[in-house]
Amino acid sequence: MKRVILLRFGELYLKGKNRGFFEKVLISNIKQALKGIECKFYKVTGRYIISDYDEMDETIIINKLTKIFGLVSLSVAVEMETNIESIKDYISNISIPQKSFRVSVTRADKTFPIKSNDFEKELGGLILKNNPTLKVKLKDYKTEIIVDIRENGLTYVLHDKIECEGGMPLGTAGKGLLLLSGGIDSPVAGYMIAKRGMSIVGLHFHSFPYTSEMAKQKVISLAKLISPYCGKIKLYLCPFTKIQEEIHKNCAPEFMITIMRRIMMKIAAKIAVKAGCKAIITGENLGQVASQTVESLTVTNFSQTQIPIFRPLIAFDKKDIINISRKIGTYETSILPYEDCCTVFLPKNPIIKPKLEKVIKEELKLDIETLVDNAIKNTEIIEC
Ligand code: ATP
Ligand code: MG
Repeated sequence: MKRVILLRFGELYLKGKNRGFFEKVLISNIKQALKGIECKFYKVTGRYIISDYDEMDETIIINKLTKIFGLVSLSVAVEMETNIESIKDYISNISIPQKSFRVSVTRADKTFPIKSNDFEKELGGLILKNNPTLKVKLKDYKTEIIVDIRENGLTYVLHDKIECEGGMPLGTAGKGLLLLSGGIDSPVAGYMIAKRGMSIVGLHFHSFPYTSEMAKQKVISLAKLISPYCGKIKLYLCPFTKIQEEIHKNCAPEFMITIMRRIMMKIAAKIAVKAGCKAIITGENLGQVASQTVESLTVTNFSQTQIPIFRPLIAFDKKDIINISRKIGTYETSILPYEDCCTVFLPKNPIIKPKLEKVIKEELKLDIETLVDNAIKNTEIIEC
């Protein structure tokens, strides 16, 4: 008898034509996440199982698995040889914390001599005998004890289901370039899009020396914090100081943020093409700040036409974004008080409803192409 972990994959996508592809990517992601931990991972009669691990590692393994997109749930189970007496013996000593339970037997092994229904009753009776305060409830039970009798001579007994992330396996929806700031929103946006299967490459604009080395380190930490979900992130660190200085010197202050956002997108589009990314992802959110009104977002969109911009948080309430950021563990880092490049040259009255023609006219005061090319030339790349 040994403890194993049973994995459940998302069923919706597994039914489609791409089943083989999704499954292959998911398996490779699981193997990658468990690299360095001694255990076996295999498929047996339609089930994915992790076994032969040190019990001390069980929590670590579960922790890693619950962050893998494409896994729907998992259960710790006891694996034993299919033998009526050993199953009965194990079940009679099982401890159930809640008041009501049911036993469900599935019998893939049709040579097993007792019918599922009969065996359920017998096992339920054994539990009641040793725990007279418990109640059997066939519906609305608190605990379901599953006895899964497989074709290969092995039986699995399990009761708690641990919910995993669900979503699509990372890497099944191409690659996207995440504009990663030091704030709360963008790491959450990265997590959300990765949950749809998109791998992430990061791009951060810094305004050194106006922003500190600590601000840059904070972004690197955020990239590392989302990597259990999003995989290891290649992070582009792009110097933005010169561009901000030029806008500040040459353009009307109310256009500062609008022009900055448009130049960020132009740089992002070029880096995205270079990095093989098919979308730009931001943490923008309708109405959050002046640069996120529908007019501002539209003017930002028109800065480049090569790559679509995905904004997974567009309609989220801040409190919901904060809840996700707490759940994925980025919140405490995001609220550290280091300045961001956007706040350095913040004008008093940014334009809220910019008109594209006026912005373009204002931009003629700059040599945008050279500024963009130089910024890209001086971009560093690190692996987080
Ligand atoms: P906050 O939680 O403070 O709103 P934020 O990251 O959303 O943080 P915003 O000023 O709202 O900051 O910026 C909107 C979006 O623009 C961000 O979510 C991010 O995708 C992108 N962005 C902003 N600043 C930067 C930066 N310095 N580098 C890369 N992307 C940035
Ligand atoms: Mg924001």
